[in-house]
Amino acid sequence: MEKLLEPFGFSFGRLQDIATLIKQLKRNHIPVIKFVEYVEQEKTNRAKINKSNKKRWEQNTLKCPDCQSPMNLFPVNTVPGDQTGDGSQSVWMCPKCGETVYNLETVAEILTGME
Ligand SMILES: [Zn+2]
Repeated sequence: MEKLLEPFGFSFGRLQDIATLIKQLKRNHIPVIKFVEYVEQEKTNRAKINKSNKKRWEQNTLKCPDCQSPMNLFPVNTVPGDQTGDGSQSVWMCPKCGETVYNLETVAEILTGME
């Protein structure tokens, strides 16, 4: 059994959780394959949601003034390593060409405004 489990590197606590899950499945007369099918279906559903969220983000996000790509939003002036020397609280950055657009609003304020 140890040889079978070794490649997964599960902690003993995780193994106990898995054992509890398998006992629950057995107690409820649910074949293990049904659980596997559930996890695979859930993976597909989550991928669809992530893709949908990404598409919605790209539709609502600021487009790069130079190349029209959807820009990414980051906080600035929050820690010593991201000081800009001005009153900016966030920056749009283009992942394609590196163009930046600084904002006086925080990331949270901008995201709230996008809803
Ligand atoms: Zn760009």
